[in-house]
Amino acid sequence: MAKYEYDLFTIGAGSGGVRASRLSASFGAKVAIAEERYLGGTCVNVGCIPKKLLVYAAHFSEDFEDAAGFGWSVGERHVDWRKLITNKNAEIERLNGVYRRLLEQSGATILDGHANILDPHTVFVGQKQYTADHILVATGGWPIAPEVPGSKHAITSNEAFFLPTLPNRIIIVGGGYIGTEFAGIFHGLGTQVTQIYRGPLFLRGFDDDVRKTLAVEMRKKGIELRFNTNVEKIEKVNDGIRATLTGGVSVEADLIMFATGRSPNTRSLGLDNVAVELNRKGAVVVDDYSRSTVPSIYAIGDCTDRLNLTPVAIAEGRAVAETLFHNNPMKPNHANVPSAVFSQPSVGTVGLTEAEARERYGEIEVYKATFRALKHTLTGRDELTMMKLVVDRATDRVVGCHMVGPDAGEIIQGLAVALTCGATKAQFDATIGIHPTAAEEFVTMREKVPAQVSPG
Ligand code: NDP
Repeated sequence: MAKYEYDLFTIGAGSGGVRASRLSASFGAKVAIAEERYLGGTCVNVGCIPKKLLVYAAHFSEDFEDAAGFGWSVGERHVDWRKLITNKNAEIERLNGVYRRLLEQSGATILDGHANILDPHTVFVGQKQYTADHILVATGGWPIAPEVPGSKHAITSNEAFFLPTLPNRIIIVGGGYIGTEFAGIFHGLGTQVTQIYRGPLFLRGFDDDVRKTLAVEMRKKGIELRFNTNVEKIEKVNDGIRATLTGGVSVEADLIMFATGRSPNTRSLGLDNVAVELNRKGAVVVDDYSRSTVPSIYAIGDCTDRLNLTPVAIAEGRAVAETLFHNNPMKPNHANVPSAVFSQPSVGTVGLTEAEARERYGEIEVYKATFRALKHTLTGRDELTMMKLVVDRATDRVVGCHMVGPDAGEIIQGLAVALTCGATKAQFDATIGIHPTAAEEFVTMREKVPAQVSPG
């Protein structure tokens, strides 16, 4: 008789947990997966998928305007927020069902409820006890907000996806992915948006040219960006809130949203019963194979706070399944992970920023192109696209590709393959472009640009 009921007990049915569970089951492991909230986790329910649907919705306002330059007359425009949210919710429910079916078909047992770890091989879900050879913690993260007076009046992205009405005015606090994406979403749908960020320029960690270009383009569209600014106090007023900002300036709005980061979901899981080490931010400390300080317990995805991106959690989940149940020890690859900010215009990036490359390689070459997309020759829209390549001079290898402009994520995904293969600038130059596209610019860049000074 097997020593334990299950080979793998996964806590959390988000992208990473589901991937690890299904793959492990396909390798013959007996798998249980517990989920207390919703199947599909953050990405499916309050993250990537509904966000991208809202980004599409928001972009129509410019598409309708742009249509005029191509001879179209577009009549009265009005967005029905309730209908948008209802349709979005229906799609999410469909996806929840798809996740349930996929898990069931894989042979995994789905347990609806909160899981609590009792010892290195025992988990409780409700009153029922389960034993497993391995436990996988894949519990994701949760939005956090700074504790300023009145912060209870603010929402986070979790609530933004279910607002009963579209606000006329919103203040968004935070200059990361979520704040910047929601600034574009609300602005596109007609809300007056003020995005505030505590530092000199938002999207810290991204290439400086990306940060500067995006700030210029967002301001051109009418989004108010206030940098070197934070919220000191929030008060409820008749028709919304009043936020007191750095320097005593007060701004009124219908809503204020904190997009000030996310914290690993590792509390009340019983991790203290088993002495799993957590870091200062509460993330599970893991080795290269996603193994925690307790040998039978693994952790993947946002609860480990490595690279908090869905495809990374999926890769980590795959690696755990391969390692444990396929006799194929595998470390997830965290190098050259591409990402996109679905701002308006969007950002796509892979590899090192100019500043990082200079620090790592010393001698680098930078190529940059800024241009107006062909489409806008007829629309008259004053939006510029920026593309940039960072090259290690010694080896000629392209070590960073960055873009601000339409479809940046779609374009950078292909370039991520090139970077993973170690492509050189000469090989980029030898690649024939597709004409007329914006992407062809990446293989026709010849002009080097001088070094930049970082805004910090
Ligand atoms: P981020 O960590 O990306 O950004 C948080 C922002 O809030 C930063 O600008 C940060 O400033 C600021 N901030 C943090 N604490 C405070 C504070 N106390 N007061 C004021 N400002 C503060 O978090 P997000 O919430 O935007 O997103 C969470 C994660 O989710 C991302 O890191 C990303 O991994 C993932 N994500 C990915 C997306 C994608 O791939 N498209 C989309 C959405 C999320 P500072 O820079 O100074 O620290």
